[in-house]
Amino acid sequence: MKKQKSQQLLEYIVNSEAKQLGDFKATAQIAAELLSQQLNVSSVVVSAICSENDTLEQITRLTIASLPSKTLSQVQSYRPKPSLCDDFISQLKVERHITSEHCVDDPRLVELQAYYQGHGIRAVLEVAIRINGHLEGMLSLERTESSEPWHESEVQLCSQVADQLALTLATKYGYDKDERLTLLLSAAEQSDQIMMVVNLATDCIEYVNNAHFELTKVPKERILGRKIQVLDFFKQYPNLSESVLNKARNGEPCEEEINLIRHDGSAYWMRLSVKRFISERGNHFALVNAENCTEQHHHQSELLRLAWRCGLTGLYNRTHFSRVLKKLKSGHMVLIDLRGFKRFNDTYGHANGDVMLIEIARRIRHFAEVHQLSEIARIGSDEFGILFENNEDEFSIQQATERLYRQLEAPITIGIEQIEPKPALARVDIASIEEQFSSLTCADIALQYAKNKQGNAIQVFNSALLNAFKEDAQIERDLVAAIKGRQFELYYQPLKDLKKQAYIGAEALIRWHHPKKGVLYPGAFIDIAEQSGLINDIGSWVLEAACKQLNLWQRHQIDISMHVNVSARQFFSGTLFEQVWSLVTRYRLKPHSLILEITETELMEDIRSATNLCNELADLGVGLAIDDFGTGYSSMRYLKQFPISKLKIDRSFISDLSVSHESREIVSAIIAMASALNISLTAEGVETKEQESFLAEHLCHQAQGFLYSPALRESEFSQFLAKSPSIH
Ligand code: C2E
Ligand code: CA
Ligand code: CA
Repeated sequence: MKKQKSQQLLEYIVNSEAKQLGDFKATAQIAAELLSQQLNVSSVVVSAICSENDTLEQITRLTIASLPSKTLSQVQSYRPKPSLCDDFISQLKVERHITSEHCVDDPRLVELQAYYQGHGIRAVLEVAIRINGHLEGMLSLERTESSEPWHESEVQLCSQVADQLALTLATKYGYDKDERLTLLLSAAEQSDQIMMVVNLATDCIEYVNNAHFELTKVPKERILGRKIQVLDFFKQYPNLSESVLNKARNGEPCEEEINLIRHDGSAYWMRLSVKRFISERGNHFALVNAENCTEQHHHQSELLRLAWRCGLTGLYNRTHFSRVLKKLKSGHMVLIDLRGFKRFNDTYGHANGDVMLIEIARRIRHFAEVHQLSEIARIGSDEFGILFENNEDEFSIQQATERLYRQLEAPITIGIEQIEPKPALARVDIASIEEQFSSLTCADIALQYAKNKQGNAIQVFNSALLNAFKEDAQIERDLVAAIKGRQFELYYQPLKDLKKQAYIGAEALIRWHHPKKGVLYPGAFIDIAEQSGLINDIGSWVLEAACKQLNLWQRHQIDISMHVNVSARQFFSGTLFEQVWSLVTRYRLKPHSLILEITETELMEDIRSATNLCNELADLGVGLAIDDFGTGYSSMRYLKQFPISKLKIDRSFISDLSVSHESREIVSAIIAMASALNISLTAEGVETKEQESFLAEHLCHQAQGFLYSPALRESEFSQFLAKSPSIH
């Protein structure tokens, strides 16, 4: 072939668009076409080697001569993969080209023989396509007919074409690499996650994407190429950032969540993770990934707030308070209770109850601010707690508590009314508490005492209270045995009609034959029974015993009424009516012979259900007496509303009659009111003739007291009645 011709051919390839664009397949096709036109060959094949996955890809194959008799499907139509022609590949790497006129039995090409035979190839010119000495593929010229040996000019042309193919491939690789890089970079720029690459040898920021500016508002130019110490993280958290950097240098990955402040003063949360990587050249870099987690943080703190705060007052809740309290070994705790809050809530409605609680919380918060206390909580519906975590001296805490008490006592305006909250405060010195008791239990014990105090309802917890509490706990255990062991007995105190001068009733009063302590009066155990709920069992027994006794009296024609004390818990238990109904029916009690006594304070606890129950009882012919009348705060309005058959004037007014003008006034007022409302009246605790005369003069109906008799056992009571004038 003419030199000029080959020159033209080469130039054509070099200048082709395909070659310039690095389009290897198109260039290979051009080359194959041109070579097949110029040289005496039956086919031109261009293949690419991929050593990574051991494949030989046939890029193009141009065949001029038709195949011999065998069809392609029967033969090995493709050249073997690189691992199957090791020798051949190695030779090609070194020699750059192999020429053979008898390839089928050429020992250098044994590995390719099946392929050659399959295609009926007699002579081949195999030329290496190499980049930097690395074999990337081959240009193969094949002849099915034997002819002259390969001419040097042919070999040279093919080698030059192979070089051009190698160049095309190199361009393609370059383009591919560039494109991958640009792709990666634009992906990184698009990402919402912050990406930053830091050179660990120089501490320089080598790369940072756009997301960094979006979150931090720090322009890229201010940090790119600079040392990492310019970052807000390093400025605002010098110690933490240094430790993160050290970890990165040691190849330890780490994650942090930090709260940062922008230059404009706004704050945000960032979660970052740092990982070291080593480049191909052995340089150490840190890859920093970071993202905005402000919202999650807010969400989390909102969850915490919900879990730890009271929704109404914004104070901490019991869970939080208990957690903090548990860890405290010293300091003081103050527990606050609002006496009568439940009644206030029932009377004025829940909305007003909330107003009251919010105002109390506000006062407590103010107090806490002044005394720099952080742990203030609402720990029950109307209970609040304050912790004095610093070890202030006893005296200043006592003064602070008294001040708080006065602040809480101040009237609150609710609607048009001025309401005076009735706080009760208990204080506990945390260090003084015995191991087995919690501060809250101790404060609760003290609070019970505080609530019953006259004047300032503040009680400091002390060992005497604890002992009393322990004794109460013992009584409670003994009561359980007493209920089972029938250790109770009813005593009866007579009621005298002052006009008729005859005994017309008896009040059943419980006594407990305690196996160790002897006879116990109700004052020693009724409150405990009430608090523990045991009162329901005791109360049922009392009712049953009293009704049974009343039935016996009625059978013996002793015509007196039976007064039975009923506690609030029993009264509101929901089963009282049924119980009374079945007793009245079973013992065939005469109408109006059974009277239930309940104190006015207890009755007012739940006015609505009390009214219903009273009406039902009245329909059953069971009377209702208000006990200890005058000590609570029932209003005329309610008295009118209840079907009450009797008031019992509290003992305290009677014992004061001779000394207190006020008591005399009150008693005569109560008597006047009762007759106006047509309610029968009993004076309790009558001990002297003078008291009796006063009551008789003012037309009080009945009297009860030691002047006549204390409560007596049934046998003594019957004897007492037999000796006394009676109405039958
Ligand atoms: P109460 O219902 O006010 O009962 C009258 C109390 O005054 C009785 O005390 C009685 O012994 C006492 N007393 C009567 N006359 C005089 C007097 O002239 N001077 C003085 N100083 N006291 C007098 P007791 O029996 O110790 O009962 C105390 C309280 O225990 C009762 O007060 C009542 O509230 C409660 N109670 C008694 N028995 C029962 C019961 O079976 N069930 C319930 N739930 N409570 C009961
Ligand atoms: Ca009573
Ligand atoms: Ca009473």
